[in-house]
Amino acid sequence: MKLSPLGSKPDWTLLDAFARSMSRAEFEKAWREIYSQPNSLPPPFEITQEALLVPGGQTGEPPRRVSFQSAADSADRPAPPGFWRSASRLPPLQGRPVLSDLVIALDPGHLGGQWAAMEERLLSFQPGEDIREGDLSLLTARVLKQRLTDLGAIVHLVRENAEPVTSRRPQDFDQDARQLLTESGFASPTESYLGLVGDAKLLTVQWQREKLFYRVSEIHARGGKVNHQIRPDIVLCLHYNAESWGDASAPQFSPLNHLHTLVNGCYANSELMQQDVRFEMLMRLFGRVHEEELPLASAVAEGMARSTTLPPYVYTTPNARRVNDNPYVYARNLLANRLYLCPVVYLEPYVMNHEETYRRLLAGHYHGRTLIGGRLVSSAIEDYARGVVDGLVKHYQKHRRNS
Ligand SMILES: [Zn+2]
Repeated sequence: MKLSPLGSKPDWTLLDAFARSMSRAEFEKAWREIYSQPNSLPPPFEITQEALLVPGGQTGEPPRRVSFQSAADSADRPAPPGFWRSASRLPPLQGRPVLSDLVIALDPGHLGGQWAAMEERLLSFQPGEDIREGDLSLLTARVLKQRLTDLGAIVHLVRENAEPVTSRRPQDFDQDARQLLTESGFASPTESYLGLVGDAKLLTVQWQREKLFYRVSEIHARGGKVNHQIRPDIVLCLHYNAESWGDASAPQFSPLNHLHTLVNGCYANSELMQQDVRFEMLMRLFGRVHEEELPLASAVAEGMARSTTLPPYVYTTPNARRVNDNPYVYARNLLANRLYLCPVVYLEPYVMNHEETYRRLLAGHYHGRTLIGGRLVSSAIEDYARGVVDGLVKHYQKHRRNS
């Protein structure tokens, strides 16, 4: 019974609600074009003429069966179970602002504040100055909340300050960290990463413990908040990207600057061997989350491309794939976009260690233009917010009913 780190055993009976809701052709198309990883090993499930057969967790237990829709089944499709509403299922606008009734969760990536160095998301090229991704994402969320509320949306921040949503802390994950290292073949690992860099740092108990805290446990806690408390129609995960900057005490600038957005998909066979991951992927696929998530991500990516004028990032690794003709949209299986049970657009604009971008981000959020390195430039945060708003407005203008 393999599970992902800190994952819990799924309730496989929840898949029963999707019986006869999706044709085999629809399932295969979504699997082939979005959820599968090209050139991965075959998935741990079987697609037959009539049904999907998927092993649960117990050995010896027969596979679970989800029947495909057949021609004899009713053609009008009930709304898939779940709390979120697609643009076409929201109440008619009847002349109200275009985001009226829409519940949006803004998820500011990372923690920032005192946690930024531990998260490896603190960048400083000079004593006395720094940018922290978690603080920038929170500032962006606050600017966005105002703009989106003005357009009628009901906006929640998944994190309101620089403190974790999870109540657990690194020391709570000592046993899990040691177990992960043992399973990877490092039974007697180094305790502290003080003075270590690169892979040697990753193989310490301290680094593993901290990562389980600020990444895994934190995202699970945010998933609980999104799925049980906020129950939004969409989630926007707000991040700032970076190129490798090397040792944080002597970081390097990068000449690159780019933008991309992520939807959920591109699962490797090794990921699907974990039963919670396999289950979560199928809940998204049968739940037709991608049918809203892809056009939404494309619209937001186009808005961001217009406002930032950044070129698209191009992945060269197998963990991401293109899913449509928009060069700014990729699918990746991330913990956040897998656990949140609704359409998620995960935003990765800007390279924080691109020199001009770094200086613009140091200047924070401002209106108009300011002189940086001899050039008059707008606020990167303002351009970020404008791009998101523009993309959302276009998407909902196109897909919402007025009456
Ligand atoms: Zn990030």
